Amino acid sequence: MKLWIIGAYGIVSTTAMVGGKNLEKGNIGKTGLVSELPWFEGIEKFAPLRFEFGGHDIRPLKNAYEAAIEHWNLNRHYDINLLENVKEELKRINAKKGTALNCGSGIEELGEIETLDNLTLSEIVERIEKDIKEFADEETVVINVASTEPLPAKSDYHESLDKFEEMIENDEKKYATASMLYAYASLKLGIPYANFTPSVGSSIPALKELAEERKVPHAGNDGKTGETLVKTTLAPMFLYRNLKVLGWMSYNILGDLDGKVLSHRDNKESKVVSKDRVLEKVLGYSPYSITEIQFFPSLVDNKTAFDFIHFEGFLGTKMKFYFIWDGIDAIVAAPLLIDIARFLLFAKKKGISGVVKEMGFFFKSPMDTNVVNTHEQFKILKRWFEELI
Ligand code: NAD
Repeated sequence: MKLWIIGAYGIVSTTAMVGGKNLEKGNIGKTGLVSELPWFEGIEKFAPLRFEFGGHDIRPLKNAYEAAIEHWNLNRHYDINLLENVKEELKRINAKKGTALNCGSGIEELGEIETLDNLTLSEIVERIEKDIKEFADEETVVINVASTEPLPAKSDYHESLDKFEEMIENDEKKYATASMLYAYASLKLGIPYANFTPSVGSSIPALKELAEERKVPHAGNDGKTGETLVKTTLAPMFLYRNLKVLGWMSYNILGDLDGKVLSHRDNKESKVVSKDRVLEKVLGYSPYSITEIQFFPSLVDNKTAFDFIHFEGFLGTKMKFYFIWDGIDAIVAAPLLIDIARFLLFAKKKGISGVVKEMGFFFKSPMDTNVVNTHEQFKILKRWFEELI
């Protein structure tokens, strides 16, 4: 299968490329891949573990190997031999120049960038479509793993497909964000699209309409990989035992490019909203909550989250619970890119179109559903697969 990755030179993307190519060669095990669990037996026939990668980025690097080695030098997050094993394949992956329209002040942190943004909206979309079309076949999925954008300016242009296309025609750049334009191009070409970031992507009514019209499946938003995964797995315990959560503090610190971009208030806002909403959805009420994300350079990709939960039990007695998540962001995220792409391709081959709500298990802010309880989400994913296979 083919994966077209928006943000192809990022640490999550290049780690997925290294993993994908090593899986293909049988150099590594399948730990971390949800799609390889026994409940999903049979997926291989629809989405084999053989990959070709391409994508868009805005940093003018030579190729995915140069990007991967840069990330590896800072993080040393896996055995270097795994990168050297696939060096030639990664050298052949050259990202195409993308758009950074309304991507916020955090983009300054990426250093030198090259974009298509001097073109009109119609021209940008045309270029993106052409790049994807040249790469794609019937077994292609597009996935957005670019830096997190700010929340978009509200506009009627997002409310219907006709309006969205009018926005493009009128070159109303103020209301279009990069993630929308990539999603638009993918869905228009009939290619399944997933949004691994909290950016808006395909979640506006106009693009949901396009996906239905073109009969394409899509899913998002924001990969559920670390602290939010633990939170939405643990919070149901308080619900099941009728314990009242009085307050929940989540304090996240991380370094790396992602952390740098998220240190900008406008870019951070979408991430905080995405992480913060889950408690109310799991518990049915909103306890006092603090969600913070702060840049901590020396940690690089090693994200640490401190969670403090204050809760009330029998006789009104108050108790406390703490946990620390110490994850390596790219390592928890990369296999999910492969899983999401496989399930989307499976969905396409089964004739599913529109938002695949059943894939909510993979996301912090799943589209079109309020189910964020990880246990429930996993059951839903399994049932969906069992019924279709
Ligand atoms: P990164 O900074 O290493 O990579 C982002 C890449 O996107 C960079 O190469 C950058 O040049 C590129 N980019 C930025 N804007 C772009 C645009 N408009 N078009 C094309 N390319 C663009 O970040 P990362 O750690 O790989 O994370 C990527 C995204 O995934 C972030 O939005 C992050 O919030 C999200 N995410 C990550 C995790 C995780 O790592 N566990 C979980 C959920 C979501």
